[in-house]
Amino acid sequence: MGENLPVVVVGASAAGLTAVESLRSEGFSGRILLMGEEDHLPYDRPPLSKQHLTAESPEVVSLSRASTLSELEIELQLGSPASSLEVQARRVVLDDGRHVEFDQLIIATGVRPRELRQGHELGGVHTLRRLEHAAAIRAAFERRPRVVVVGGGFLGAEVAASARTLDLDVTWLFPEEEPMSEVLGQQVGGVFADRHRDAGVTIESGILVERLTGSGGVVTAVECKDGSTYQADLVVVCIGSVPNVAWLDSSGLSLSNGVDCDSYCRAAEGIYAAGDVASWLHPGSGQRVRVEHRMNATEQARVVAHNVVHGAEQAFAPVPYFWTDQYDARLQVFGFPGGADGFNVVEGGLAERKFAGTWTSAGEVVAIGGIGLPRAVRGLRPLLG
Ligand SMILES: Cc1cc2nc3c(=O)[nH]c(=O)nc-3n(C[C@H](O)[C@H](O)[C@H](O)COP(=O)(O)OP(=O)(O)OC[C@H]3O[C@@H](n4cnc5c(N)ncnc54)[C@H](O)[C@@H]3O)c2cc1C
Repeated sequence: MGENLPVVVVGASAAGLTAVESLRSEGFSGRILLMGEEDHLPYDRPPLSKQHLTAESPEVVSLSRASTLSELEIELQLGSPASSLEVQARRVVLDDGRHVEFDQLIIATGVRPRELRQGHELGGVHTLRRLEHAAAIRAAFERRPRVVVVGGGFLGAEVAASARTLDLDVTWLFPEEEPMSEVLGQQVGGVFADRHRDAGVTIESGILVERLTGSGGVVTAVECKDGSTYQADLVVVCIGSVPNVAWLDSSGLSLSNGVDCDSYCRAAEGIYAAGDVASWLHPGSGQRVRVEHRMNATEQARVVAHNVVHGAEQAFAPVPYFWTDQYDARLQVFGFPGGADGFNVVEGGLAERKFAGTWTSAGEVVAIGGIGLPRAVRGLRPLLG
């Protein structure tokens, strides 16, 4: 490693923070610089769509303290967006024109919300990724708006549940037949749809939103491809995310879906990626995967730190884990359920919304999971190998 040049980590959130802490626990004693675009110390995002929207005075879940980072002798530059990467010169250029040279680099810049093409700029239209976004939605909820949630993924589901928990008028629009079905399939997606309906959410499935329209610069309606229109005072757009790689456009790195990496999470010699932004070759399946889950950010960053310190020797072959909380239901999943051809209940029942089971593809178990029976879910874990 270069004598004085630091390991630079760009992106000060779950993956970036774990990477710098793990560099130290792997025995690295050289300089480490953690740079992030946001002004905050790293904080946890999962509560943003849950407690942050429902609690009266939500607590920010900080992932670290300045004093801990300083004890680990980690140099911290917050409020410092990286604007480009020069691979040959081994330097990161910052927004203000300054640059930092690195010996090795870890890219952990995550993703940002996808936006609707028409009407997204109107007042009352929100996306949710950052602390400020959650605070703005929470403040808007105080005015008891008619809420329309656009998008049938996990984030849309959690926002709809939070808004309904506050007894707001909530309409939830998505193009699929059942929510979250791209990942969970129709059966488990259907269990959640029923839970939302029972709670009083108006679900409109099979609906593709065309544009948002407004009056006086403020949103008033959501117009859909089939001609239907939904009145709204507040629209939360949850239609997926886009990897934060614009700053790498001129770097020469391969960026087909995030930062393309090999099985060691390496994008180029001495350059690695971790977390939501990283697309790597999973050694188990031989497929390129990019995972947007909290636990993956931590696990991948640990492996990346190991490889930075010891040379690329540890392939990253996780069994992914994620959870979602909606109302009183926590779903936990291990594995890759997306693309499975069915879900098989092993214990409990879908109708009771309390079950453990397996997702299978061509007869092979590809994921396990369930609601309300965590011990039974853990018992299925050996089926995943
Ligand atoms: C509202 C919400 C709820 C969630 N709930 C769950 C859940 O229930 N379960 C679950 O498993 N997962 C959940 N997730 C996903 C989980 O939070 C993410 O997988 C995790 O945050 C990924 O961490 P990361 O460090 O890779 O990326 P991020 O957390 O996105 O962090 C990337 C950081 O890089 C910074 N950055 C971007 N570009 C630059 C640049 N050019 N220069 C410098 N810095 C830059 C960003 O500002 C950001 O601070 C949720 C996410 C959200 C938003």
